[in-house]
Amino acid sequence: MARIIQLTALFFVTLFGYSIVADSDFESWKTEFRQSALRVGIQSETLDMTFSGLLPDRKVLKLDAHQPEFTRPIWKYLENTTSVERVRVGQQKLAEHDELLTRISAHYGVDKAYLLSIWGMESSFGKQTGHYSVIRSLATLAYAGRESRREFWSEQLLAALRIVQRGDMSVRDLRGSWAGAIGHTQFIPTTLEAYAVDFDGDGRRDLRHSIPDALASTANYLAKSGWQEGQEWGEEVKLPDGFDWNLADSKVRKAAQRWTVDHQILPISGGLLADGEMYPAFVFLPAGYHGPVFVMYENFDVILKYNKSNSYALAVGLLADGLRDKPAVSADWPYNDIALSHQEKAELQLLLSVAGYNTEGVDGKIGPNTQSALRRWQSDVGFPPDGYATVEYLKLLRQQVEVKPTIID
Ligand code: CA
Repeated sequence: MARIIQLTALFFVTLFGYSIVADSDFESWKTEFRQSALRVGIQSETLDMTFSGLLPDRKVLKLDAHQPEFTRPIWKYLENTTSVERVRVGQQKLAEHDELLTRISAHYGVDKAYLLSIWGMESSFGKQTGHYSVIRSLATLAYAGRESRREFWSEQLLAALRIVQRGDMSVRDLRGSWAGAIGHTQFIPTTLEAYAVDFDGDGRRDLRHSIPDALASTANYLAKSGWQEGQEWGEEVKLPDGFDWNLADSKVRKAAQRWTVDHQILPISGGLLADGEMYPAFVFLPAGYHGPVFVMYENFDVILKYNKSNSYALAVGLLADGLRDKPAVSADWPYNDIALSHQEKAELQLLLSVAGYNTEGVDGKIGPNTQSALRRWQSDVGFPPDGYATVEYLKLLRQQVEVKPTIID
């Protein structure tokens, strides 16, 4: 019998490639987690209700382990997230919920278009809120997800248990993405705890069934993150000939007026940059020097607090513009550029480092250190130093640098 169990366990390991050996491990993890949860104030009734019969979800582990090899270029991402269809549905939702949105907007000082935009980005206006049991997903991830993230998942699981315990949402209702993001605006449990509000007045913060709660919670999150009422996220600009590309860096900040006075940067649509703001704005090149150029204001940084991705924040801004019939991006995207794969990015980092432009590590992700190394190399070789990695640069670096294979005895 023991032999059969062993073989079955082995079969699962081979079939799914997960770190789960047998469910008995999950049971011991549950017992251990239960003890630590009780110590931080989760009641035994809550744990009985949520943990009894709970099994790990293998699909969640598969999704957690999946690292996409290719990233979509930003214009593809924007095409998808700010599509004509999404704008159309968004405007329909605006008409449908205008009275509610006006009240939320007046209360929190956040423009309706941004609330709609985030709603569209996060769940296609409530169409895709996710069907995974949040407790089950988070328990699975805290138990056997990527090791570096397990502590984070445990914290999220504790927060989810507190949400159930407080009666904001029931275990049955607590459904969302495989990674535990809940409802219309996909709040993770700790964010829900800290920022969600009960706007429909039923005494519960229900981000899955209550549109008023979900949209007001988003407005509250943005307001608490420093949202500037009446201001925009940024705007597309035109650069003068001979612009120093090193200045297009989120670390280089200046008041909008200074960008115009010192560097002749003006909006592509005419007029002046949003004036009167002392907030240090920055020049942003999402696709290098041969793509559109933007100047980003304070609200862009606020959107980044919602989701720390430049592409996401740009999409929120552009979708908010689309919903208000503002002009779309005017400059062409470099459609012929081929996105670097994860492996090619790592190779680029290695080659730059060998060539004397230290990227401070080779992880296949283009971060500030790699961009800065790439800018120095571009500058020395005679390219515009925009820090934007392309296949062409990788090919050149391959010719320039000879990496000798390490010989191991
Ligand atoms: Ca409510």
